[in-house]
This record gives sequence, C-alpha cells and structure tokens, in this order.
Amino acid sequence: MAEGRWSIAVHGGACRIPAALQAPRREGCAAALQAGKMILERGGSALEAVKTAICLLEDDPLFNAGRGSVANADGEVEMDAGIMDGATLAVGAVACVRFLYNPVEAAHAMLREPPILLVGAGAEAFATARGIAECKEGIRPATHDGGDHDTVGCVARDREGHVAAATSTGGLAGTLAGRVGDAPLPGCGFYAEDGIGAVSLSGDGEAIARTLLAARVMRALETKGAGAAAATIFDPLARLGAEAGVILLDRDGAIGIAHNSPHFAAAYAREGMDPVSAIVWKDHHAQ
Ligand code: ASP
Repeated sequence: MAEGRWSIAVHGGACRIPAALQAPRREGCAAALQAGKMILERGGSALEAVKTAICLLEDDPLFNAGRGSVANADGEVEMDAGIMDGATLAVGAVACVRFLYNPVEAAHAMLREPPILLVGAGAEAFATARGIAECKEGIRPATHDGGDHDTVGCVARDREGHVAAATSTGGLAGTLAGRVGDAPLPGCGFYAEDGIGAVSLSGDGEAIARTLLAARVMRALETKGAGAAAATIFDPLARLGAEAGVILLDRDGAIGIAHNSPHFAAAYAREGMDPVSAIVWKDHHAQ
C-alpha cells in the first residue's frame, strides 16, 4: 500500500440547517475533525481516527446521532451506526439500538468478530459484554428545532495508506419503530477499501440504500478524481427525487464533497493543509 499524507473529512448531515444552528454545527464538525486529525498526525490509524471523530459527534446533542438522536413515531430513539476498515474489509454495524451512548463503539468492536451487523437487544448485549458504556434508561430523544437529516460521518486515510469510513445516525424523526436506513449498511451509507478510497453519506436513507450510493461512488473512484466521483450521487438521487450529501477520499487522500440538500455541514483537513470547517450550500461541491 502506498504510503503518504494523512487526510480526513467529517460531516454533520445533509439537510436544511436553520441559521441559528449553522455556527454550532460547524464548530461541532471542527471539533470532531480536530480529534481525528490529532490521531493521524501522531501516526495513528484511519480506523481509530474515524471512530474517535464519530464518538465526539455522537456525544454532541446538536447532531442526530448518539445523545442528539431524534424520536421515532413511538417517541423513542433507535440508532444505527456502521464502520469499515479499508485494510481488511472488516465491517461492523448496529441497528435499532436504544441503550448505547456511542453506537459506533459497538460497531467498532464488531470489526474483530464474524457478524457484520447486529440489531436491537442482540447488539446491546454484544456491546455490554465488551464493556461498552450503556445508557440504562435509554437515550432520551432530542428536539432539533428545524433541520431534518443530520446523520454524522467520517472518512480518513492514515500515513500507511489505509482508509476507513464510519456513519452514525438517530434515523429519521417520526419514522416507524424498527425502521433501518442506509447508515449501518455497507455499500449504502458507507464503504472503505484501501487502494480505492472511503465514503460516508447522509440523507434520505431509503433512496441511498435503493441506489447503493456508496458502492456507486466507490466504483467511480476506481477511475475518476475525488470531485467527479462525489458528483456521481446526483443522477441516482434525481431519479428518486431524493436528497443526500457525500464526503469521500480517494486512494491518495484527495477529498470530495457533494450534496443536493439545501445545506451540508462538513469539515476536512489534509497533511500540509489548514483545516476547513463549513456549512456548504446547495450546488457547491469541493475537492
Ligand atoms: N441517512 C439517515 C437515515 O436514513 C438519515 C440522515 O442522514 O439523517 O437513517
């Protein structure tokens, strides 16, 4: 695997972000980016960087993941998260968990185990058996004033050339209990493979899953640059009338961002470059 510079991008959701929440969400993304960046600067792994960044975003009540998760139709929180190690193609994911502060930690622990996805009580039992902190009374639903999708995600490349991706969400507000979107499904909400790149999405989960959006972006990354690969989300989304946003890295760590939602909260940094944290607006895509 080619060595080189580290690179990292995080997102805090593709959605309409009310004006009052734009600065705090940008700051939340910047803080998560900084935590991941410090790991990569010290020579740590892409996998550790994405897990750490996602944990921070799950702990921030302003994002719809972990402590900031929204309520489903039954008034309860059900969270999904997935993580992938591009070096080994190991995947870990949980869905419909209610009693974990950091669903991504349970997903991360699964990377060393045969299952790729556990749901509900089984996922929670798996996590507590591995010492992952549980929230005994269940995560209480957050009220986000406006703004709908705001899943969190992170992609990173370390100096060894390994890539990783992770996504975590409280799902869609008011959705049916038991509903699972794209976030814990590899090839839909996330994917990572050394030598190709890493991708994480946010948006209309059913549309992202029906169009295998992460898989399409990975296929584009085999032949296209980061910006062009990010733009491949537009046609499938338009076909279904859906909204989403994507962050990605190519094999060398070049960053791509695209979205067709009104806003997308994102932050990114590369070795040798000043970090950027921004709320990007519709029709903007960066490289
Ligand atoms: N993709 C997430 C889901 O469908 C929602 C989001 O991105 O906010 O569960």
